[in-house]
Amino acid sequence: MFASRCCAVLVMLLLGLSTANAAQRTDFAQALREADAIRTSDAARFSALVLELKTVEEEATPAQRQYLQLLEAYRLLARGQVSDSVGVLDKLLGSKDMEIALRVRASALLVNTYALSRDFTAGLKQIDRTTALLDQVKDKAIRHQAMIAAAILYNQVGQFGLGMRNAEAVQEDEPGSRFLCMAAQLKTEASLGLDKTLPDEDYNKAIHLCESIGEPIMANLTRSYLAKKWFSEGKPNAAIELLEEHLGEVEATRYPYLIGEFNSLIAKFRLAGGDLALAERHAHAAIKQGIGFPSTKPLVTAYRVLYSIAEIQEKPYDALMYYKRYAEADKIYLDEVKAREMAYQLVQHETQAQAQEIELLNKQNEVLQLQQRVNEQKAQSSRLLILLLVVLVGSISYWAFKTKRVQMSLKRMAETDALTSICNRHHFNQQSTHTLAHAARQGEDVALVMFDLDHFKSINDRFGHDTGDWVLKRVSEHCLAFCRRVDHLGRIGGEEFAILLSGCDLRGAKRVADDCRVRIASIDTQPSGHSFLITASFGVTASSLSGYDLAKLLSHADKALYRSKREGRNRVSTFDGDVQPWTQLQVVAAGDPTAHGMATPEVASDRPFRNLIS
Ligand code: GH3
Ligand code: MG
Ligand code: MG
Repeated sequence: MFASRCCAVLVMLLLGLSTANAAQRTDFAQALREADAIRTSDAARFSALVLELKTVEEEATPAQRQYLQLLEAYRLLARGQVSDSVGVLDKLLGSKDMEIALRVRASALLVNTYALSRDFTAGLKQIDRTTALLDQVKDKAIRHQAMIAAAILYNQVGQFGLGMRNAEAVQEDEPGSRFLCMAAQLKTEASLGLDKTLPDEDYNKAIHLCESIGEPIMANLTRSYLAKKWFSEGKPNAAIELLEEHLGEVEATRYPYLIGEFNSLIAKFRLAGGDLALAERHAHAAIKQGIGFPSTKPLVTAYRVLYSIAEIQEKPYDALMYYKRYAEADKIYLDEVKAREMAYQLVQHETQAQAQEIELLNKQNEVLQLQQRVNEQKAQSSRLLILLLVVLVGSISYWAFKTKRVQMSLKRMAETDALTSICNRHHFNQQSTHTLAHAARQGEDVALVMFDLDHFKSINDRFGHDTGDWVLKRVSEHCLAFCRRVDHLGRIGGEEFAILLSGCDLRGAKRVADDCRVRIASIDTQPSGHSFLITASFGVTASSLSGYDLAKLLSHADKALYRSKREGRNRVSTFDGDVQPWTQLQVVAAGDPTAHGMATPEVASDRPFRNLIS
């Protein structure tokens, strides 16, 4: 359509025919607009046209060249060349003179690009830069594009409140049908993240809107949210029917995540209804879509379903295999969710610290200017100026104090584990290395106690993640309460802890570990709303056995811990030494190994020492 109309112009431009410059520029501008208009509807022609226009770029005005760069960024993105697209957009946004509407479009596209490349920190910073310009943009559609890009990224980093706000702002501003569909879909996604149920009507409206403009991916994403809502409301049959009815349509989109999501949800709902054959088939279909992605929610759900099926069918080998895959995928998925949330927190802190630094510089500038004036008017109103100076110096001190506080809070954040408020692994390693070096010089005894909560996964599975978090907090509080000032307590893994005890030998450390074990087992879980038993398995070693190298101490305590796991959990074992037979050191106390009544599959035998030194 476009080619026939503008090729003549391009041929003229390419051959350098004697068309007047002004006329060429008008044609170039028209070609740019035409390319932009077919960007989504005819991707192949759009791409060819941008490449053609690039060959005659020198004929264009600077503004037209900038417009062409934006289109080039779209073209690269459509080809999957994400980092090249970022490069083009960065360069474009570095231009000084640039029309505001084009700047906002480029900035919003960069937000989308960062969302695609999962560079959440850069994306969030770019949202701030885009939002600062929005008031100056007259074109509604461009504003909406920027707000939709922000809502997508906010939902991705778990800031669903902000995602919801941006989606609603678009809805209220009478957008075109495409943005109306996107805003409605993003709102339903954010409400799911916020655990805030919307009426069915809102989901149906979003589905209808997106379908009416031929956006099956967005319509069906919303269907998946509605199905989850129905399932949680005790309407599994309606949820299954909704998903199965549209599975074919979803497969036709060839969008792996969505196909995986539909299949994993059907598998989960079918399993709940007792239809193992269908559950298994859909779980495998979901996993097929997940090949190449180490972890996504559909993959976690699908492995979980297969594990449960194998358990029901009493196939222990399959159950163990699927359980391991499920645990691996779940861990990667959880880590990624945490990393995304952390990206948001870091950007928030950086922005705050920057704002305060700018404020401080402004104040310092004001002082300098005032000082100059004081010098000029020494004889006259010096008293008043000096007074002002005092006030300003006071406010500088205040800002300096606030900046210091932000820096300290960032340092604290980097050192403490956000959930339990005790040392994180990195800080525990730093402190312990320092203490061990000192003890080695003095020839003092040091001991290391490591413990890992038993069947913690099953606590999460049975009572939910919030209860799991509650347990981690209570265990940390109980251990902290009997640690001395010279000891270091750290959370070194999901549900793994370590205590470095100064001036303590192996016998003393065993007593401490057993005391800790008893205290953990006596935690009253009623306040969490559930009644269950918390136990942990311990591994102990000391400098007399393992020396003063932290990696070695951790490795030896870890081996001893694993002995406790193998021998039935809820017990303390000491490292048996590289030379001495283990029988010299006895196992202390024994709880009921089936304390949780769970038959959780476990990788027994030799657990390789994981690298605990970061
Ligand atoms: P075992 O006693 O044999 O070690 O079994 P386990 O279930 O405790 O061990 P496993 O390693 O299989 O499971 C640990 C689980 O801890 C997996 C993960 O979902 C969970 N987890 C990790 N970090 C957190 C967290 O911060 N909060 C919650 N609630 N769960 C977490
Ligand atoms: Mg455990
Ligand atoms: Mg563990």
